[in-house]
Amino acid sequence: MSPPPAPSPATPVRGRCLCGGVRYEVTGPFLRANFCHCSRCRKHTGAAASTQGRVRRADFRLLAGAELIRTFRPGGDGMAKAFCSACGSSLFGGSWPDGPEVSIRLGTLDDDPGIRPTFHNFVADAPAWLPVPDDGLERHAAARPAPAPPAARPPGPRRS
Ligand SMILES: [Zn+2]
Ligand SMILES: [Zn+2]
Repeated sequence: MSPPPAPSPATPVRGRCLCGGVRYEVTGPFLRANFCHCSRCRKHTGAAASTQGRVRRADFRLLAGAELIRTFRPGGDGMAKAFCSACGSSLFGGSWPDGPEVSIRLGTLDDDPGIRPTFHNFVADAPAWLPVPDDGLERHAAARPAPAPPAARPPGPRRS
């Protein structure tokens, strides 16, 4: 079965933590989704890997529970690990609560996001008890390298 259409203002995708205190909605398409096998994500989620997706901040709305969200930064300056302080659900990552994108733990969604994970990150850190599945998706030993920049434009008039 193919995924449903991407989220939009008319067809938002909703999510919440386990206790329901934190609720949010997404009103625009997910930009990408992946599995992260790094030890920090593993410990934060309590699972073999964290499954996460990115949306533009303008397409994300926190509906309830801002006061319940706590943010832990591994090592003091690592990627944010935002969670519900009432029930412990791992909710958001990346640069939460700032930045142009929001990284959402897909396991907290109630609806189908319309995107499927397309790559595995930090496969070198996957635990021995659950090797990365042979699912044909792109794999990266550590973080996925940034996409190549657009082709350089021909040199124009120089500005001084
Ligand atoms: Zn909660
Ligand atoms: Zn990770």
